[in-house]
Amino acid sequence: MRWLLLCGVVAFACCGQIMTAEWSKDRNGSYPDYSHQTKGCEQGRALIRKTVIEGEFEALL
Ligand SMILES: [Zn+2]
Repeated sequence: MRWLLLCGVVAFACCGQIMTAEWSKDRNGSYPDYSHQTKGCEQGRALIRKTVIEGEFEALL
């Protein structure tokens, strides 16, 4: 799963749709997940943890 940083927002590389954040909860607290639902997208409903994205971006800097 790849994604793109476009004009200050994060978009999915698979179809270019802007990511939307959803708040999820577990026993450790709440945290945002980025997800999308694009009809016909090969990735289907993808979920990416914000921490995963931030880790990737740090690696790119
Ligand atoms: Zn997609």
